[in-house]
Amino acid sequence: MPRWHNWSGKLESRPAQLHFARSEADVRALVRAARHSGRSIRTAGAAHSHAPLVANDDQAILDIQGLAGVVSADPDGCRATVWGGSRIFALGNALNTHGLGFANQGDIDQQTIAGVTATGTHGTGRDLKNFSAAVTGLRLVDAGGDVVEAREGDPLWQAARLHLGAFGVLTQLEIALLPRYRLKEESWNAPLEEVLDGIDAGIAQNRHYEFFWYPQADSARVKIINETDQDPVYPLAQEGERCAWSHEVLPSHRPVPHTEMEYSVPRARGRAALEAVARLLRTEFTEVQWPVEFRTVAADDVWLSTAFGQDIVTISVHLPLGEDDAPYYRACEEIFLGFDGRPHWGKVHYLDGEQLARRHPKWEDWWSVRDRIDPDGLFLNPYLGSLRPA
Ligand SMILES: Cc1cc2nc3c(=O)[nH]c(=O)nc-3n(C[C@H](O)[C@H](O)[C@H](O)COP(=O)(O)OP(=O)(O)OC[C@H]3O[C@@H](n4cnc5c(N)ncnc54)[C@H](O)[C@@H]3O)c2cc1C
Repeated sequence: MPRWHNWSGKLESRPAQLHFARSEADVRALVRAARHSGRSIRTAGAAHSHAPLVANDDQAILDIQGLAGVVSADPDGCRATVWGGSRIFALGNALNTHGLGFANQGDIDQQTIAGVTATGTHGTGRDLKNFSAAVTGLRLVDAGGDVVEAREGDPLWQAARLHLGAFGVLTQLEIALLPRYRLKEESWNAPLEEVLDGIDAGIAQNRHYEFFWYPQADSARVKIINETDQDPVYPLAQEGERCAWSHEVLPSHRPVPHTEMEYSVPRARGRAALEAVARLLRTEFTEVQWPVEFRTVAADDVWLSTAFGQDIVTISVHLPLGEDDAPYYRACEEIFLGFDGRPHWGKVHYLDGEQLARRHPKWEDWWSVRDRIDPDGLFLNPYLGSLRPA
Protein backbone atom coordinates (compact mmCIF):
# COMPACT_ATOMS: atom_id res chain seq x y z
CA MET A 1 0.00 0.00 0.00
CA PRO A 2 1.39 3.47 -0.80
CA ARG A 3 2.58 5.71 2.01
CA TRP A 4 2.09 9.47 2.30
CA HIS A 5 3.73 11.51 5.06
CA ASN A 6 3.88 15.16 5.95
CA TRP A 7 7.00 17.36 6.03
CA SER A 8 7.94 16.52 9.62
CA GLY A 9 7.17 12.82 9.14
CA LYS A 10 4.97 12.88 12.23
CA LEU A 11 1.78 12.38 10.22
CA GLU A 12 1.56 9.48 7.84
CA SER A 13 -1.18 7.83 5.88
CA ARG A 14 -1.72 4.61 3.94
CA PRO A 15 -4.12 5.53 1.16
CA ALA A 16 -5.41 2.83 -1.16
CA GLN A 17 -4.30 5.07 -4.02
CA LEU A 18 -1.73 7.86 -4.23
CA HIS A 19 -1.99 9.74 -7.52
CA PHE A 20 0.24 12.36 -9.13
CA ALA A 21 -1.63 14.47 -11.70
CA ARG A 22 -0.01 16.52 -14.47
CA SER A 23 -3.07 17.96 -16.17
CA GLU A 24 -6.56 19.17 -15.34
CA ALA A 25 -7.99 16.45 -17.59
CA ASP A 26 -6.21 13.88 -15.44
CA VAL A 27 -7.56 15.49 -12.24
CA ARG A 28 -11.11 15.29 -13.63
CA ALA A 29 -10.71 11.62 -14.54
CA LEU A 30 -9.18 10.76 -11.15
CA VAL A 31 -11.98 12.51 -9.25
CA ARG A 32 -14.59 10.65 -11.31
CA ALA A 33 -12.77 7.34 -10.73
CA ALA A 34 -12.63 7.96 -6.96
CA ARG A 35 -16.34 8.73 -6.91
CA HIS A 36 -17.12 5.65 -8.99
CA SER A 37 -15.13 3.40 -6.66
CA GLY A 38 -16.73 4.89 -3.53
CA ARG A 39 -13.46 6.38 -2.26
CA SER A 40 -13.04 9.84 -0.82
CA ILE A 41 -10.18 11.88 -2.27
CA ARG A 42 -7.91 14.43 -0.57
CA THR A 43 -5.56 16.74 -2.42
CA ALA A 44 -2.01 17.11 -1.15
CA GLY A 45 0.11 20.21 -1.61
CA ALA A 46 3.70 20.21 -0.37
CA ALA A 47 2.70 18.35 2.83
CA HIS A 48 3.80 21.18 5.16
CA SER A 49 0.74 21.04 7.41
CA HIS A 50 1.01 19.68 10.95
CA ALA A 51 -2.77 19.16 11.11
CA PRO A 52 -4.21 15.92 9.63
CA LEU A 53 -5.74 17.67 6.61
CA VAL A 54 -4.43 15.34 3.90
CA ALA A 55 -4.19 11.91 5.59
CA ASN A 56 -6.80 9.58 4.06
CA ASP A 57 -6.18 5.95 5.02
CA ASP A 58 -7.63 3.33 2.63
CA GLN A 59 -9.00 6.08 0.38
CA ALA A 60 -7.31 8.30 -2.26
CA ILE A 61 -4.74 11.12 -2.08
CA LEU A 62 -3.98 13.26 -5.11
CA ASP A 63 -0.75 15.23 -5.45
CA ILE A 64 -1.12 18.01 -8.04
CA GLN A 65 2.35 19.55 -7.89
CA GLY A 66 2.59 18.58 -11.55
CA LEU A 67 0.18 21.43 -12.32
CA ALA A 68 2.63 24.27 -11.78
CA GLY A 69 3.57 27.63 -13.23
CA VAL A 70 2.06 30.96 -14.24
CA VAL A 71 -1.01 30.67 -16.49
CA SER A 72 -1.30 34.39 -17.22
CA ALA A 73 -0.17 37.68 -15.70
CA ASP A 74 -1.70 41.14 -15.77
CA PRO A 75 1.03 43.54 -14.58
CA ASP A 76 -1.21 46.61 -15.02
CA GLY A 77 -4.03 45.09 -12.97
CA CYS A 78 -1.52 43.55 -10.51
CA ARG A 79 -2.99 40.06 -10.78
CA ALA A 80 -1.82 36.68 -12.00
CA THR A 81 -3.47 33.32 -12.52
CA VAL A 82 -1.27 30.42 -11.46
CA TRP A 83 -1.59 26.63 -11.40
CA GLY A 84 -2.64 25.32 -7.99
CA GLY A 85 0.31 22.98 -7.52
CA SER A 86 2.92 25.74 -7.95
CA ARG A 87 5.42 26.03 -5.12
CA ILE A 88 5.74 29.55 -3.74
CA PHE A 89 9.51 29.57 -4.36
CA ALA A 90 9.00 28.77 -8.04
CA LEU A 91 6.43 31.56 -8.44
CA GLY A 92 8.76 34.22 -6.99
CA ASN A 93 11.07 34.56 -9.99
CA ALA A 94 8.32 33.86 -12.51
CA LEU A 95 6.12 36.68 -11.18
CA ASN A 96 9.14 38.98 -10.85
CA THR A 97 9.80 38.67 -14.60
CA HIS A 98 6.24 40.00 -15.11
CA GLY A 99 7.05 42.92 -12.78
CA LEU A 100 4.98 41.47 -9.91
CA GLY A 101 5.46 40.14 -6.39
CA PHE A 102 3.38 38.70 -3.54
CA ALA A 103 2.30 41.36 -1.02
CA ASN A 104 3.66 39.10 1.71
CA GLN A 105 4.93 35.56 2.31
CA GLY A 106 5.35 33.20 5.24
CA ASP A 107 8.52 32.10 6.99
CA ILE A 108 9.24 29.59 4.22
CA ASP A 109 8.40 29.36 0.52
CA GLN A 110 8.20 25.57 0.13
CA GLN A 111 4.41 25.31 0.15
CA THR A 112 2.09 25.29 -2.86
CA ILE A 113 -0.20 28.20 -3.68
CA ALA A 114 -3.31 26.01 -3.23
CA GLY A 115 -1.86 24.80 0.08
CA VAL A 116 -1.18 28.25 1.53
CA THR A 117 -4.63 29.51 0.61
CA ALA A 118 -6.18 26.34 2.10
CA THR A 119 -5.06 27.27 5.61
CA GLY A 120 -4.74 31.06 5.66
CA THR A 121 -0.94 30.93 5.70
CA HIS A 122 0.54 34.32 6.55
CA GLY A 123 3.74 36.24 7.12
CA THR A 124 4.05 39.25 9.37
CA GLY A 125 3.16 42.92 8.81
CA ARG A 126 1.05 45.67 10.32
CA ASP A 127 -1.10 46.11 7.19
CA LEU A 128 -0.47 42.80 5.46
CA LYS A 129 -3.11 40.07 5.17
CA ASN A 130 -2.78 36.33 4.75
CA PHE A 131 -2.57 34.46 1.42
CA SER A 132 -6.30 33.55 1.40
CA ALA A 133 -7.23 37.24 1.42
CA ALA A 134 -5.26 37.72 -1.83
CA VAL A 135 -7.37 35.21 -3.79
CA THR A 136 -9.52 37.01 -6.36
CA GLY A 137 -10.68 34.00 -8.34
CA LEU A 138 -10.40 30.24 -8.40
CA ARG A 139 -10.98 27.26 -10.62
CA LEU A 140 -11.65 23.79 -9.25
CA VAL A 141 -12.67 20.29 -10.20
CA ASP A 142 -15.84 19.50 -8.28
CA ALA A 143 -17.27 16.23 -6.97
CA GLY A 144 -18.80 15.45 -10.37
CA GLY A 145 -15.41 15.84 -12.06
CA ASP A 146 -16.53 19.08 -13.68
CA VAL A 147 -14.62 22.37 -13.79
CA VAL A 148 -16.18 25.20 -11.79
CA GLU A 149 -14.92 28.79 -11.63
CA ALA A 150 -15.65 31.35 -8.92
CA ARG A 151 -14.99 35.07 -9.13
CA GLU A 152 -14.73 37.79 -6.49
CA GLY A 153 -18.12 38.21 -4.84
CA ASP A 154 -19.49 34.69 -5.60
CA PRO A 155 -20.49 32.69 -2.48
CA LEU A 156 -18.14 29.91 -3.60
CA TRP A 157 -15.25 32.38 -3.85
CA GLN A 158 -16.12 33.84 -0.46
CA ALA A 159 -16.08 30.43 1.22
CA ALA A 160 -13.29 28.72 -0.72
CA ARG A 161 -10.64 31.42 -0.42
CA LEU A 162 -9.70 29.54 2.76
CA HIS A 163 -10.75 26.09 1.60
CA LEU A 164 -9.05 23.37 3.69
CA GLY A 165 -9.06 21.26 0.53
CA ALA A 166 -12.75 20.57 1.14
CA PHE A 167 -14.45 22.08 -1.92
CA GLY A 168 -12.71 20.15 -4.70
CA VAL A 169 -9.33 20.08 -6.37
CA LEU A 170 -8.13 23.64 -6.96
CA THR A 171 -6.39 23.67 -10.30
CA GLN A 172 -5.91 27.43 -10.72
CA LEU A 173 -6.01 30.53 -8.53
CA GLU A 174 -6.06 34.20 -9.44
CA ILE A 175 -4.05 36.20 -6.92
CA ALA A 176 -3.86 39.95 -6.21
CA LEU A 177 -0.22 41.07 -6.27
CA LEU A 178 1.91 44.21 -6.01
CA PRO A 179 4.31 45.76 -8.51
CA ARG A 180 7.60 44.01 -7.75
CA TYR A 181 9.52 45.59 -4.90
CA ARG A 182 12.75 45.27 -2.97
CA LEU A 183 13.19 44.74 0.73
CA LYS A 184 15.95 45.19 3.24
CA GLU A 185 16.00 43.38 6.57
CA GLU A 186 17.71 44.07 9.87
CA SER A 187 17.82 41.96 13.03
CA TRP A 188 19.25 42.12 16.54
CA ASN A 189 19.09 40.42 19.94
CA ALA A 190 17.55 42.01 23.04
CA PRO A 191 16.13 40.91 26.40
CA LEU A 192 12.47 39.91 26.19
CA GLU A 193 11.20 42.67 28.49
CA GLU A 194 12.93 45.33 26.37
CA VAL A 195 11.39 43.83 23.22
CA LEU A 196 7.93 43.73 24.79
CA ASP A 197 8.16 47.43 25.65
CA GLY A 198 8.99 48.16 22.01
CA ILE A 199 6.30 45.99 20.37
CA ASP A 200 3.83 48.74 19.48
CA ALA A 201 6.49 51.02 18.02
CA GLY A 202 8.08 48.09 16.17
CA ILE A 203 4.78 47.12 14.57
CA ALA A 204 3.84 50.72 13.74
CA GLN A 205 7.18 51.74 12.22
CA ASN A 206 7.95 48.77 9.98
CA ARG A 207 6.40 46.97 7.00
CA HIS A 208 7.30 43.65 8.67
CA TYR A 209 8.04 43.18 12.37
CA GLU A 210 8.56 39.88 14.22
CA PHE A 211 10.60 38.29 16.94
CA PHE A 212 11.61 34.87 18.21
CA TRP A 213 12.05 34.52 21.97
CA TYR A 214 14.57 31.84 23.00
CA PRO A 215 13.60 30.78 26.54
CA GLN A 216 16.94 29.16 27.45
CA ALA A 217 18.94 32.29 26.60
CA ASP A 218 16.02 34.48 27.73
CA SER A 219 16.79 36.66 24.75
CA ALA A 220 14.73 37.61 21.71
CA ARG A 221 15.81 37.99 18.08
CA VAL A 222 13.92 40.88 16.50
CA LYS A 223 13.63 41.14 12.72
CA ILE A 224 12.30 44.13 10.78
CA ILE A 225 11.93 44.36 7.00
CA ASN A 226 11.18 47.48 4.97
CA GLU A 227 10.99 48.55 1.35
CA THR A 228 14.16 49.90 -0.20
CA ASP A 229 15.37 51.39 -3.48
CA GLN A 230 18.82 49.90 -2.96
CA ASP A 231 20.10 47.39 -5.50
CA PRO A 232 19.97 43.71 -4.49
CA VAL A 233 23.20 42.43 -2.97
CA TYR A 234 24.29 38.96 -4.12
CA PRO A 235 25.17 36.49 -2.85
CA LEU A 236 22.38 37.06 -0.37
CA ALA A 237 23.67 37.85 3.10
CA GLN A 238 22.60 35.65 5.99
CA GLU A 239 19.02 35.85 7.20
CA GLY A 240 18.43 39.12 9.01
CA GLU A 241 20.74 41.18 6.77
CA ARG A 242 19.48 40.61 3.25
CA CYS A 243 18.67 43.25 0.63
CA ALA A 244 17.00 41.95 -2.53
CA TRP A 245 13.63 41.35 -4.22
CA SER A 246 10.74 40.57 -1.87
CA HIS A 247 10.62 36.87 -2.74
CA GLU A 248 14.31 36.57 -1.94
CA VAL A 249 14.18 38.34 1.42
CA LEU A 250 10.90 37.14 2.94
CA PRO A 251 11.47 33.36 3.15
CA SER A 252 13.76 31.70 5.65
CA HIS A 253 15.31 28.25 5.69
CA ARG A 254 13.80 25.79 8.18
CA PRO A 255 15.68 22.52 7.68
CA VAL A 256 15.14 20.91 11.10
CA PRO A 257 11.91 18.86 11.30
CA HIS A 258 9.66 19.89 14.17
CA THR A 259 6.02 20.24 15.18
CA GLU A 260 4.28 23.55 15.77
CA MET A 261 1.21 25.04 17.41
CA GLU A 262 0.13 28.55 16.48
CA TYR A 263 -2.75 30.64 17.75
CA SER A 264 -3.96 34.10 16.73
CA VAL A 265 -5.19 36.50 19.36
CA PRO A 266 -6.66 40.01 18.91
CA ARG A 267 -3.73 42.39 18.39
CA ALA A 268 -4.42 44.42 21.52
CA ARG A 269 -4.03 41.24 23.60
CA GLY A 270 -0.87 40.00 21.90
CA ARG A 271 1.63 41.23 24.47
CA ALA A 272 -0.34 39.81 27.41
CA ALA A 273 -0.72 36.43 25.66
CA LEU A 274 3.01 36.28 24.93
CA GLU A 275 3.80 37.17 28.56
CA ALA A 276 1.51 34.36 29.74
CA VAL A 277 3.31 31.85 27.50
CA ALA A 278 6.68 33.16 28.76
CA ARG A 279 5.52 32.62 32.36
CA LEU A 280 4.50 29.07 31.49
CA LEU A 281 7.92 28.35 30.01
CA ARG A 282 9.78 29.93 32.92
CA THR A 283 7.84 28.01 35.56
CA GLU A 284 6.52 24.70 34.17
CA PHE A 285 8.35 23.90 30.93
CA THR A 286 11.86 25.08 31.81
CA GLU A 287 13.48 22.40 29.63
CA VAL A 288 11.95 23.62 26.32
CA GLN A 289 14.71 24.83 23.99
CA TRP A 290 12.67 25.84 20.94
CA PRO A 291 11.64 29.46 20.47
CA VAL A 292 8.31 31.27 20.63
CA GLU A 293 7.50 33.32 17.52
CA PHE A 294 5.51 36.57 17.50
CA ARG A 295 4.04 38.07 14.30
CA THR A 296 1.17 40.31 13.18
CA VAL A 297 -1.48 39.94 10.45
CA ALA A 298 -4.03 42.50 9.25
CA ALA A 299 -7.79 41.97 9.49
CA ASP A 300 -9.69 40.49 6.53
CA ASP A 301 -13.16 39.28 5.53
CA VAL A 302 -12.24 35.68 4.68
CA TRP A 303 -14.79 33.45 6.39
CA LEU A 304 -12.57 30.99 8.26
CA SER A 305 -9.55 33.26 8.53
CA THR A 306 -8.04 33.67 11.98
CA ALA A 307 -7.92 37.39 11.11
CA PHE A 308 -11.62 37.55 10.16
CA GLY A 309 -12.81 40.97 11.35
CA GLN A 310 -9.78 41.73 13.53
CA ASP A 311 -6.11 42.65 13.39
CA ILE A 312 -4.23 39.84 15.06
CA VAL A 313 -0.99 38.77 16.61
CA THR A 314 0.11 35.18 15.97
CA ILE A 315 2.11 33.28 18.57
CA SER A 316 3.80 30.01 17.61
CA VAL A 317 5.40 27.40 19.83
CA HIS A 318 7.61 24.60 18.54
CA LEU A 319 9.10 21.30 19.67
CA PRO A 320 11.49 18.86 18.02
CA LEU A 321 10.32 15.46 16.82
CA GLY A 322 10.60 12.56 19.22
CA GLU A 323 9.24 14.47 22.19
CA ASP A 324 5.69 14.15 23.49
CA ASP A 325 4.52 17.61 22.50
CA ALA A 326 0.98 17.26 23.89
CA PRO A 327 1.56 18.43 27.51
CA TYR A 328 3.30 21.62 26.39
CA TYR A 329 0.91 22.35 23.51
CA ARG A 330 -2.20 21.68 25.62
CA ALA A 331 -0.93 24.06 28.30
CA CYS A 332 -0.24 26.72 25.64
CA GLU A 333 -3.66 26.14 24.07
CA GLU A 334 -5.36 26.77 27.41
CA ILE A 335 -3.60 30.12 27.59
CA PHE A 336 -4.48 31.05 24.01
CA LEU A 337 -8.14 30.16 24.48
CA GLY A 338 -8.22 32.53 27.45
CA PHE A 339 -7.22 35.30 25.03
CA ASP A 340 -9.98 34.56 22.47
CA GLY A 341 -7.48 32.62 20.38
CA ARG A 342 -8.13 30.96 17.03
CA PRO A 343 -5.84 28.10 15.96
CA HIS A 344 -3.89 28.05 12.68
CA TRP A 345 -5.60 25.57 10.36
CA GLY A 346 -2.36 23.92 9.30
CA LYS A 347 -0.78 23.46 12.73
CA VAL A 348 -1.38 21.45 15.89
CA HIS A 349 -4.51 22.15 17.94
CA TYR A 350 -7.00 20.07 19.90
CA LEU A 351 -10.33 21.79 19.19
CA ASP A 352 -13.42 19.95 17.93
CA GLY A 353 -16.08 21.27 15.54
CA GLU A 354 -18.20 22.86 18.25
CA GLN A 355 -15.25 24.71 19.75
CA LEU A 356 -14.17 25.94 16.30
CA ALA A 357 -17.73 27.04 15.52
CA ARG A 358 -17.71 29.28 18.61
CA ARG A 359 -14.56 30.98 17.35
CA HIS A 360 -15.57 31.45 13.71
CA PRO A 361 -18.75 33.50 13.15
CA LYS A 362 -19.06 32.23 9.55
CA TRP A 363 -18.57 28.55 10.39
CA GLU A 364 -22.10 27.45 9.41
CA ASP A 365 -22.05 29.56 6.20
CA TRP A 366 -18.74 28.01 5.18
CA TRP A 367 -20.05 24.50 5.67
CA SER A 368 -23.30 25.27 3.89
CA VAL A 369 -21.48 26.46 0.72
CA ARG A 370 -19.14 23.48 0.98
CA ASP A 371 -21.92 20.97 1.43
CA ARG A 372 -23.77 22.37 -1.61
CA ILE A 373 -20.82 21.71 -3.91
CA ASP A 374 -19.92 18.33 -2.33
CA PRO A 375 -23.04 16.95 -0.60
CA ASP A 376 -21.68 13.39 -0.33
CA GLY A 377 -18.39 14.41 1.30
CA LEU A 378 -16.18 13.12 -1.51
CA PHE A 379 -13.51 15.67 -0.48
CA LEU A 380 -13.67 15.07 3.29
CA ASN A 381 -11.32 12.83 5.24
CA PRO A 382 -12.25 11.49 8.72
CA TYR A 383 -10.66 14.52 10.42
CA LEU A 384 -12.62 17.12 8.42
CA GLY A 385 -15.74 14.93 8.60
CA SER A 386 -15.46 15.03 12.40
CA LEU A 387 -15.65 18.85 12.30
CA ARG A 388 -18.75 18.97 10.06
CA PRO A 389 -21.82 20.41 11.82
CA ALA A 390 -24.45 17.74 12.54
C1 LIG B 1 8.62 24.62 8.22
C2 LIG B 1 7.24 25.21 8.12
C3 LIG B 1 7.10 26.59 8.10
C4 LIG B 1 5.81 27.15 8.03
N1 LIG B 1 5.70 28.51 8.03
C5 LIG B 1 4.48 29.08 8.04
C6 LIG B 1 4.33 30.50 8.10
O1 LIG B 1 5.29 31.24 8.12
N2 LIG B 1 3.07 30.99 8.16
C7 LIG B 1 1.98 30.19 8.16
O2 LIG B 1 0.85 30.71 8.25
N3 LIG B 1 2.08 28.85 8.06
C8 LIG B 1 3.30 28.28 7.99
N4 LIG B 1 3.42 26.92 7.89
C9 LIG B 1 2.20 26.13 7.67
C10 LIG B 1 1.96 25.91 6.18
O3 LIG B 1 2.13 27.11 5.45
C11 LIG B 1 0.51 25.45 5.93
O4 LIG B 1 0.24 24.30 6.64
C12 LIG B 1 0.20 25.26 4.44
O5 LIG B 1 -1.17 25.01 4.30
C13 LIG B 1 0.99 24.11 3.81
O6 LIG B 1 0.82 24.14 2.40
P1 LIG B 1 1.19 22.86 1.51
O7 LIG B 1 1.32 23.30 0.10
O8 LIG B 1 2.33 22.15 2.11
O9 LIG B 1 -0.15 22.02 1.62
P2 LIG B 1 -0.51 20.67 2.41
O10 LIG B 1 0.00 20.78 3.80
O11 LIG B 1 -0.10 19.51 1.60
O12 LIG B 1 -2.09 20.79 2.42
C14 LIG B 1 -2.72 21.82 3.13
C15 LIG B 1 -4.18 21.90 2.72
O13 LIG B 1 -4.26 22.30 1.36
C16 LIG B 1 -5.10 21.43 0.64
N5 LIG B 1 -4.67 21.45 -0.74
C17 LIG B 1 -3.41 21.49 -1.22
N6 LIG B 1 -3.44 21.58 -2.56
C18 LIG B 1 -4.73 21.59 -2.94
C19 LIG B 1 -5.40 21.70 -4.18
N7 LIG B 1 -4.74 21.84 -5.32
N8 LIG B 1 -6.76 21.67 -4.19
C20 LIG B 1 -7.45 21.56 -3.04
N9 LIG B 1 -6.86 21.47 -1.83
C21 LIG B 1 -5.52 21.50 -1.78
C22 LIG B 1 -4.94 20.10 1.34
O14 LIG B 1 -6.01 19.23 1.07
C23 LIG B 1 -4.91 20.54 2.79
O15 LIG B 1 -6.21 20.76 3.26
C24 LIG B 1 4.67 26.32 7.95
C25 LIG B 1 4.83 24.93 7.96
C26 LIG B 1 6.10 24.38 8.05
C27 LIG B 1 6.26 22.88 8.07
